[in-house]
Amino acid sequence: MKSYRKELTVNTPSRREFINITPQVESCLRESGIREGLVLVNSMHITASVFINDDESGLHHDYDLWLEKLAPHEPINNYWHNRTGEDNADAHIKRQVMGREVVVAVTNGRLDFGTWEQIFYGEFDGMRRKRILVKIIGD
Ligand code: ZN
Repeated sequence: MKSYRKELTVNTPSRREFINITPQVESCLRESGIREGLVLVNSMHITASVFINDDESGLHHDYDLWLEKLAPHEPINNYWHNRTGEDNADAHIKRQVMGREVVVAVTNGRLDFGTWEQIFYGEFDGMRRKRILVKIIGD
């Protein structure tokens, strides 16, 4: 069994952003040479998510509005977590809802997606360097 590991880095210009990272994961898969196996992609931060859904900008706007309704960034002093001096309690909650990681099957050297599936990085506390782990195992 072969094993491959790579860290992708992101630094979003805004606090919240959704980025389609499918092309980067596909290039990791090519680099790994693995034809049959599994890919794990996870955020290495507790204020960001990795998830699978449709690459449709309206949907991403809907996610942002829904998450802001659920856990608004402001007022900052509404959260116990922010009593530590941080301002990112909302980002921790948004990450919990949108998930930490995805696993995708690798078949015949390709990501074995369902219809319209793409891999996204969801940033909820951006404007700083963040890491995403890509781990691939198989043959
Ligand atoms: Zn925090």
